[in-house]
Amino acid sequence: MSFATNTLSQRMEHAYYPIRELFPLAEEIKKTGAEIYNASIGDPVPYLGAAKYITRAYCKALKDGKAFYSRSPGDFGFLDEIATRYKRVYNLDIESSKIFVTQGLSEAVSFLTESLIDKGRGAVLFNPYYPTYAPTIKLFGGTVVLSSLNEENGWAPSKDDLEEKIRKAKSDGVDLRFILIINPNNPTGSMCSRKDLEDVVEVAKNNDLLIISDEIYDQVILVKEKMTCVGEVAKGVPHVIMNGLSKNWAGTGFRVGWVAIPEDDEASGKLREGLGNLVTMRLSASTPAQIAGIEALRNVKAHNRFLKYMVKNIRERAEFMQKRLNGIEGVSCQKVKGAFYLFPRIDLSKTKFKNDKEFCTELLRREHAWVTRGSGFGLDGHLRSTALPPVEVLDKVAQGIENLMRG
Ligand code: PLP
Repeated sequence: MSFATNTLSQRMEHAYYPIRELFPLAEEIKKTGAEIYNASIGDPVPYLGAAKYITRAYCKALKDGKAFYSRSPGDFGFLDEIATRYKRVYNLDIESSKIFVTQGLSEAVSFLTESLIDKGRGAVLFNPYYPTYAPTIKLFGGTVVLSSLNEENGWAPSKDDLEEKIRKAKSDGVDLRFILIINPNNPTGSMCSRKDLEDVVEVAKNNDLLIISDEIYDQVILVKEKMTCVGEVAKGVPHVIMNGLSKNWAGTGFRVGWVAIPEDDEASGKLREGLGNLVTMRLSASTPAQIAGIEALRNVKAHNRFLKYMVKNIRERAEFMQKRLNGIEGVSCQKVKGAFYLFPRIDLSKTKFKNDKEFCTELLRREHAWVTRGSGFGLDGHLRSTALPPVEVLDKVAQGIENLMRG
C-alpha cells in the first residue's frame, strides 16, 4: 500500500471534536455577509472580556523578557499559588510538588489518558460528557464505558447504573482504570451534590478505580448551592483534580491548566511519576501565561470582582434561555446550576429531522442559529447552547429552534 493511501495511523479515526464541526458552514454563511447567532463555543472572553488584572500581568511578563522555558512540571511560584488556592477555597492541603501545570486542561486529559490507558483497558464516563474524553481514550486503544446521567433528576449520576456498568464492563473483560467526573458539568450545566459525589467515590473505592475530576467551572456557580471539590470527599482514595485558567478566570487563550494528584498511595505516586515524565517530554508550559496565572490566583480581590460580574451575566442569560426554551413545544430544559451551558431535549418525533445532527445543521443553514448537537456529547435528541451571548442573541437562537420545531 502506498503512503498516500495509508498515511495516517489507524488511531486517527478517533481524532474528532464535534463542537467545531459546523465551523466550515458558519464561515460560508458569514462570507455572504449574513449575521450568525452563535451559542456554540464555550469561550467567555469574546462575550465578557478578559480580566484586565491578568492580561496586565501577562504583558508585564513579556516586557520583562520572561519568554523562556519554565520548569517542566510548572513554575514554582505558580504551583504554590495553586496549592494556596485549594487551601483557601476548599481547605485542602495539597503539596505543590503534587501539582503539574499543563497547556490547558485539554493537555492534562491527554497526559492522564496516555498514562493510564492501553488496549484492553477502559474508563467510565458519565453520559453526556465533554467530547474530548471519549476520543482521547479511544486514541490510546481504550474502551469507553458510559453510565447515564439522570436527566429527570437534574442530570445526577446514578449509583446503581454506575455499579451495573462497571460490573458489565468487568465481565466483558475490560480492565477499568478510572471514573471521570465533570463538575460543574459541560454540557448539562448541572452540579453534583456532595452526596452524589460521595456515592461515586464509594463506587470507585469498592472497584479499585481512580477518580478523575474535571472542575474547570468550579467557581462558575449560578445557584446558592455549594460546590464540593472531589478532594473534600475522596480523602484516602486515589483521585485527580483538574482545573485551569480558561473558565473561572476567563482566560481560554492563556492555555493554562493544572492537575493535582494529592494522595500518598502507591498508584498516585506512580501516576505522578508518569505525568512527570510526560511533562518533561514537552519541555514547558507557557512561562508568561504561568506568571499571569500567579496574579490570577493571588489577587483574590480582583478575581472575586471579575467573577461576580461574570457569574451575574451568565446567570441572567442562562435563566432567560432556560425559560425561553421551555416555552417551546417539544423542548424541555433542566435548570442550569453551574458552568455556562444548557442542554435541552428536543422531541425530534415532532420534526422532520432524523437526528440532532440534521437539526443543528439546518438550524445554522436556515435560521443562522448556531448550537452544538447533543450526540456530539454522547446523547442524541439534545442540543447544547451556551449561555454566554447577550439575551438578544440567545433569543434569536431560541427563535430559530422554535421555527424549526414548527416545521
Ligand atoms: N473540560 C471541560 C469540561 C470543558 O468544558 C473544556 C472546554 O470547554 C475543557 C475541559 C478544556 O479546557 P482548556 O481550555 O483548559 O483546555
